[in-house]
Amino acid sequence: MENLRIPGPTPCPHEVLQAMTKQMINHRGAEFSAMLNGVTADLKTLFQTKNDLLCLTGSGTGGMEAAIVNMLSPGDKVLSVSCGVFGDRFADIARTFGADVTSLKFEQGKDCDPDAVKKALQKDAGIKAVLLTHNETSTGVTNNLAALAKVVKEADKLLIVDAISSMGSIDCQVDKWNLDVAISGSQKGWMAPPGLTMISVSETAWKAHTASKMPKFYWDFSRAKKYLEKGQTPWTPAITVVYAMNVSLKMMLKEGMQNIFARHAKLGDMTRKGVKAMGLKLVVADEKYASNTVTAVWPPANVNPDNLRKTMRDKYEVVLTGGQGTLEGKIFRFGHLGMCDEAAIKDALDALRKSLPEHGYSPK
Ligand SMILES: *Cc1c(COP(=O)(O)O)cnc(C)c1O
Repeated sequence: MENLRIPGPTPCPHEVLQAMTKQMINHRGAEFSAMLNGVTADLKTLFQTKNDLLCLTGSGTGGMEAAIVNMLSPGDKVLSVSCGVFGDRFADIARTFGADVTSLKFEQGKDCDPDAVKKALQKDAGIKAVLLTHNETSTGVTNNLAALAKVVKEADKLLIVDAISSMGSIDCQVDKWNLDVAISGSQKGWMAPPGLTMISVSETAWKAHTASKMPKFYWDFSRAKKYLEKGQTPWTPAITVVYAMNVSLKMMLKEGMQNIFARHAKLGDMTRKGVKAMGLKLVVADEKYASNTVTAVWPPANVNPDNLRKTMRDKYEVVLTGGQGTLEGKIFRFGHLGMCDEAAIKDALDALRKSLPEHGYSPK
């Protein structure tokens, strides 16, 4: 069986796959309402929030666009804080809809520095909102979101967070850290297929929403909230993904949030130790910020990471992913989030160890 070790989509447990074989139901009926209300309540627990939580049909990027168009108006000054491809994407979306974006960028492999964010906010009092990425999937970096959020909130700015590849896997405390908008996606740590984006919306965020003038229809949070009050979604939802989440969230709550975080920490540690033991280098500059959901690795000199991945897939059925943006063709990445255990990581590391010699490198 294929060992899918990419940072989403991630493998789904058997029970979750089974749940998706159920016949379609009326999405305006009582059965669906009960399911959506249950899924929403469980998500609030795992987002560690009492804020409103909306499940919208779309991928994570759709959730990012939804956050932008629901919070901002054209011309609004926004500070984008980025240390990789996903941070840059957030800025691009905001620019596309007419926000006046200032980019604060950190080098590949580095984390976003709270002091630099503080300075950037002091420099321009007109900034209304800050865009942050909790876990930068392109480089395997987890930012110190608690410290970053503190700086943003001390400056009294609206805080919009891409927590797509961290929420539910790495501790992300929406209420405690005052995250106004936090976004995730069903195919990351949630043991479900792609199709839903889940977004928490604080009271401050609702005020920003009321004032926002960017065009929105499909993503309109007001419509989503109004329908959620009836246990519905404004448009036809990805019903099968709701079936899946209805089961996977129960499995997550049974395992327990702290146990899930500990398992991810262990798997991240195991992956990093494994690749380092082969003499390979991590992309993350300071391991203090190493991600527990995704590990990005530099291949040995003269080894093409894409060819290496092909060997791993063809010979050992281990599927890793490559680099994105400027790191395309330069690195490879392991996903270790959602349904993942030590056996899966051991299998992936074994495949790497066995594949490297074929590409002219003998692991230590
Ligand atoms: C996966 C991911 C996205 C994009 O999600 P899609 O579902 O592919 O649109 C955005 N941000 C981060 C940090 C991600 O890991």
